[in-house]
Amino acid sequence: MRILVVEDEIGLAEAVRDGLVADGLDVDVVHDGLDGLWRAREGSYDAIVLDILLPGMNGYEVCRTLRAEEIWTPILMLTAKDGEYDEAEALDTGADDFLSKPFSFVVLLARLRALFRRGAAPRPAEIIFGPLALDPGTHTVSHGSSEVSLTAREFSLFEYLMRRDGAVASKQEILDHVWGLDFAGDPNVIEVYIGYLRKKIDQPFSTHIIQTERGTGYRLVAP
Ligand code: CA
Repeated sequence: MRILVVEDEIGLAEAVRDGLVADGLDVDVVHDGLDGLWRAREGSYDAIVLDILLPGMNGYEVCRTLRAEEIWTPILMLTAKDGEYDEAEALDTGADDFLSKPFSFVVLLARLRALFRRGAAPRPAEIIFGPLALDPGTHTVSHGSSEVSLTAREFSLFEYLMRRDGAVASKQEILDHVWGLDFAGDPNVIEVYIGYLRKKIDQPFSTHIIQTERGTGYRLVAP
């Protein structure tokens, strides 16, 4: 088994490498996001351990880029519990699993073993609704023949609505699934994001696919 470790904290990277090598794995270590991207493209790895805050290119971007290029090597993302980078976002970018720092080596190894067993995830099926298409694997959205560029949070909200396939999604359901059960902010954040989605998905095409159901929530209606 070959592992790529992309981590800029030299001490941590070395400790992880030494541990994995002692366990019989083949390990390459790089300390920069761009180097990580190049290695991941060129090498045949069984898994990638990817930090988020990296020089060159951050872990989210590395992950998103690999998935957009249809490289499905399992990725375990290392998240720091500083509130700035959240786990939902790590998964949104196409990571297979995440581990919060500081972590125990035993847990890291167990997670990696689970990823090896699972292997590279098969390309997930595209979700279609009317003229809209969402590809959960490459994180791309299109309206007709035009590609629509969404941020990670917009994508995650839109994916949730697309999976509803025209059924109403209540604000509470959206908060729980898109923002997470521990969300303690202002629920009006949903309206703000629905506004962003309309600007990108409906307005340029003069459609009204994203509809508000007064007092209940939101749903998609095919034009
Ligand atoms: Ca870092």
